[in-house]
This record gives sequence, C-alpha cells and structure tokens, in this order.
Amino acid sequence: MRNIEMNKPTQKESRTELIGLNCRPPEFSTLSVHAGESRQKAGDSITDPIFCASTYTFANTQALIDFVEEQQPREEYGRYGNPGERVAERKLAALEAGEAALLFASGMAAIVGLLMAKLSGGDEVIFFDECYHRSREFCAKHLSRFGVKTIQVPACDYDAMEAAITPRTKMLISESPTNPHLSIVDMDRFAGIGSRHGVETLIDATLATPYNLRPIEAGVDYVLHSVTKYLAGHNDLLAGVVIGSAEKLDPVRNLRGIMGMVNSPHNCYLLLRGLKTFELRMQRHNENGQRVAEFLESHPRVERVYYPGLKSHVHHEIARKQMRGFGGLVTFLVKDADWRATADIVDAVRIPRIAPSLGGVESLIEQPIVMSYHQYTLEQRRGFGIPDNMIRLACGIENPDDLVADLAQALDATA
Ligand SMILES: *Cc1c(COP(=O)(O)O)cnc(C)c1O
Repeated sequence: MRNIEMNKPTQKESRTELIGLNCRPPEFSTLSVHAGESRQKAGDSITDPIFCASTYTFANTQALIDFVEEQQPREEYGRYGNPGERVAERKLAALEAGEAALLFASGMAAIVGLLMAKLSGGDEVIFFDECYHRSREFCAKHLSRFGVKTIQVPACDYDAMEAAITPRTKMLISESPTNPHLSIVDMDRFAGIGSRHGVETLIDATLATPYNLRPIEAGVDYVLHSVTKYLAGHNDLLAGVVIGSAEKLDPVRNLRGIMGMVNSPHNCYLLLRGLKTFELRMQRHNENGQRVAEFLESHPRVERVYYPGLKSHVHHEIARKQMRGFGGLVTFLVKDADWRATADIVDAVRIPRIAPSLGGVESLIEQPIVMSYHQYTLEQRRGFGIPDNMIRLACGIENPDDLVADLAQALDATA
C-alpha cells in the first residue's frame, strides 16, 4: 500500500488507497478517522503534529527555484496554508466526495471569499430568501458597493428563481435546510436550474453536513459549510470550507492567500480532532433532533414544530428522499405566548445553554427574535418570518431522554 503523502493525492485516490482495497471506497466513519492523513506522520506520531510556523524554509536557492518552477507541493508562507490545514482540507473533500476543499477562518470568511473571487461589477446573484442573516447582509450591503446586484426570491420557489435569471446572472445560492425555518431545497431541481442556464450553484449545507446531504452528487457546483458547527462539533473553534472542483476553487485559493482568511495550525489540530468522531456525533444529533421534535409536536403548549423529520413538515417528502437524517436543530412556536412568556421557557431549561450557534456537543437554545437580529427593528424581524414566540433549540449529543425530560419540566413549570 502506498502512503498518502501530505500534499499529493486527489481525493479519489485517497479514498481507496486508505484501505488498500480496490473493491470499494471506505465508509463514512472510516473516512472521518483516516481520510486525508499520511499513514506515517512526522515524528512517527499517530496524530498530525501542530507545526507552529509562520514561514517555511528552503534548503538552498535551487530548492526555491524548483518550488516555483515545478510548483512542488510544499509549504511556503503561513498565509497560503499550513500542513494541518491541508490534511483537514483533504479530509473534508473526502467526506463530501468532492475533488477539492478550501478551508477558511470562519463560515462567513468562506462565503465572502468565494463570492469575492467569483463575482465582478455588473454580475447578478440570485438567492433564496431564508438564509443566514450575515450572508444576506454581505450580499445586500457589501456586494452592492462593488456593483454586484443581488436578487432575493422566496425560499423553494424554483420558478421565481428561474424567472429571475438574466444573461448577467453568475450564481444561484441557497441553504438547505434553511435557518431557522428548516425548509428543504430539492437539490436536483436547484442544480438543474443552474445547469439549464449555465449558471453556477452554491449550497450552504451547514445544517445538513455531508453525513445527511450530498449536494455534489446532485450536481451542485460548490458546497459550503460553517465548519464551526457540526463538522468541528465542540463549540471550541471557528472555521469554514468550500468544496468543489479543483479548477474552480483555484482562483478562490489565490484570493484567500491575499486576504489572509486562514486557520492557525492550532485551530486545524482542533478541527482534525473533532472530525474523528463526526459520524458518531451526527448519529446522536439526528436521534436527538427527531426525539425532541416528536416530543414537542405532541405537547399541548406547542403551536408548531419545524423539523424536516416530522410528517407535518412541508418538505418532509423531499427531505426523506435526499437526506440520511435531519440534524439536531429544532425550531418551535409556543402556543398563545408573547415574547416574555417564550423567554420564560428559554430561561427554565436546565441542560441547553442560551447561546447562538449550533452543531456542538452541548445543546444550545435561543429565541431568534431576541438573539440573532439586533441590528433590525422589531417590525423588520417579524418581516423575516421570525415571530415573538419562536424558540430554536440546537440539540447536542446529550442523552435524548434527559433532553426530553428537561423540556417537559420547562414547559410545565412556566405554564
Ligand atoms: C453559522 C453559519 C454561518 C456562518 O459561519 P461562521 O463559522 O459563524 O462564520 C453560515 N451559514 C450558516 C447556515 C450558519 O449556520
């Protein structure tokens, strides 16, 4: 069996090399543990070492000339990447079954980096309107300053998206599931619109992860994740990733090196450690999300639950068709409650902590109208479909019976 060299293999090679079997690619958790890594590492260590270096040395002038002329795969300067980052990128590309991955210092850095590299003045982008509020803000307030026009259409309105395409349209953007409404975009339809019109497509699949959703297999050009969430999984670091074809990501990598949106070697180590247990964590997030959603739907104090794993969800059928599981995020409305009565429930739970974010081992709870939209007036917030009585619960990996018991006591204590 050939070693997986630090900077060498394409993902297709590493998937099979990893196991030394030609018969089939390794399964998901095997990839989480092993993909992208060298078999034999520096210092004979089983883990990838943290190389604390801002720069990398050349033995002599000829070595430098060889690096430049032959584009040898090695490090040069920390802003262009570091060894741990390359391992993480290969592992993430393997998990997504994409050709290449590009890691950024945060999910937002990944979105900004990709769009800045791909769009120019006069271009147009169309996106479904249920999206992470900072992505919307970047498009509406900042891309516009560079002459890029952004057009919002209602989430999952494929006809409206197709009708909005003009010869200037460069990219179609969506999340799936969306946050906090957990709408599910049909990957085949979305990718189909892009390919019919020759327009690139981008899915922010942070809430799904590569474990639950396979956008590249449906023909989507770029898959983006806030790695901060499920992929890193421990509420202890920020990172983002874009996955797609190596050729398409090349100019993005170049711009990342100029803008310096890179991860420190320590951050990459934490990410690699977190990724080892990715499949195990996702299995529990999926189980907890389903259990908690079913419990809430049956509770008399709950008006409505948004969770794609529930039959009552508007997109349940397409969710079942294209997803392996439905994740840990559950959004619900409290019956006959104003914002204060809703806040009382948030304050009464004992396991989830009040915080933004999701996808970590600790359960987190928030009231979106209070938490996520400070810069908007109350009226604007309601316009985003965020009612006063909405609670968003990001289930961690705690025991599902404990989470349900905790919610039950919080709902009863505040009734
Ligand atoms: C959190 C999040 C982001 C932003 O990621 P950061 O790592 O916080 O910068 C983008 N998209 C979605 C769907 C998210 O949940």
